[in-house]
Amino acid sequence: MSLNSAPSSERVHIAFFGMRNAGKSSLMNAVINQDLSVVSPVAGTTTDIVRKSMELLPVGPVVMIDTPGLDDEGELGELRKGKAESMIARSDAAVIVLDSTKPISEMELSLISRILSLRIPYVVAVNKSDLAGEYDTQPLISAGVDRRFIVSVSALEKKGIKELKEKIAESIGREEEERFIVRDLISPGDLVMLVIPVDKAAPKGRLILPQQQTIRDILDGGGRCIAVKEDEVASTISELGKHIRLVITDSQVFGKVSKEVPPSMPLTSFSILFARYKGNLEQAVKGVAAIRTLPDDARILISEGCTHHRQCGDIGTEKIPSWLEEAAGRKHELSFSSGTGFPDDLSPYSLVIHCGGCMLTEREMRRRYRSAEDSGVPMTNYGIFIASVHGILSRALAPFPEILSYLQR
Ligand code: SF4
Repeated sequence: MSLNSAPSSERVHIAFFGMRNAGKSSLMNAVINQDLSVVSPVAGTTTDIVRKSMELLPVGPVVMIDTPGLDDEGELGELRKGKAESMIARSDAAVIVLDSTKPISEMELSLISRILSLRIPYVVAVNKSDLAGEYDTQPLISAGVDRRFIVSVSALEKKGIKELKEKIAESIGREEEERFIVRDLISPGDLVMLVIPVDKAAPKGRLILPQQQTIRDILDGGGRCIAVKEDEVASTISELGKHIRLVITDSQVFGKVSKEVPPSMPLTSFSILFARYKGNLEQAVKGVAAIRTLPDDARILISEGCTHHRQCGDIGTEKIPSWLEEAAGRKHELSFSSGTGFPDDLSPYSLVIHCGGCMLTEREMRRRYRSAEDSGVPMTNYGIFIASVHGILSRALAPFPEILSYLQR
């Protein structure tokens, strides 16, 4: 995947936050070296979110995001402010832009406290160094800011920009732990069989993102793969069986495929791999147990990461509701969310069932799992739910012995 074609969900999202006229847009323009956001000395010039994809070394492909001022006013201002605020939790890294000619405000301190509590990597950029003398960083340190991530900059004179970029990269690198989709489960030369139904719900002429990314990860790991439709599973195993190290299936045909793949052959699903890659596999496994103890008045949230047309077909809207009814022995009240519409307040729900989230950033998926955990609401994932209702969860978790041993306990 070239840097320019990296999907947005795979790019690191770096957002610039601050008050109106702190110089967010000028600073972002200086970082990307282009006049992209409109800048002017009039407070509140950035009226909407502005995004720019670029390569930031050594981070790789990123999206730089300029947000409206957190102190925007009026009816429209409130709306814009809301957009900026909702961007906070969806960012992979934050640049907090302060105006060095003004003392720090309560609003800025509360922005800092929110970013720290969400554990988002950050840099505090103290702008307009050309206008001010020594800046008092004590209130920042008292608020919990790590002094190594405070940088003095002048967007106007383009001073401190190189250091700012280095600090952004350092802050992201500090918290990054490398996760793979499947590469760590195979050895170079291993053959992986992918089971991909091509039915009316599949997009015409192409594979969906989780399938593409899994194939790429197998290739990156030096493995080989063969993709088959669910009707070809038995014949492929009889031809190539002894060479196949792992079978990865679409969750929707898990039941059928598990009958044809011999018990000695590890089998899992795209969705389970994505729960591990982007979310929290252990929490998702714990979450599925809630199906057995749902109260009569349970409300269940079914969430998908796609914004416009659902790439995963009718699985969330039709198949999961009907399996759920079968498993729970009754109908429950269902709510649906898609794209960025995941509710901030999960307390009305008894269970969240989420898709693999391939279109969402890793941070956003982890934030959703964390939000469910903080609200005490069980959350699971499509693949785990489907494997569970078909009675093959242990089988699907066999490639992950530590999670399997939890389930067995
Ligand atoms: S975001 Fe979710 S619904 Fe959309 S393609 Fe990815 S896994 Fe499927």
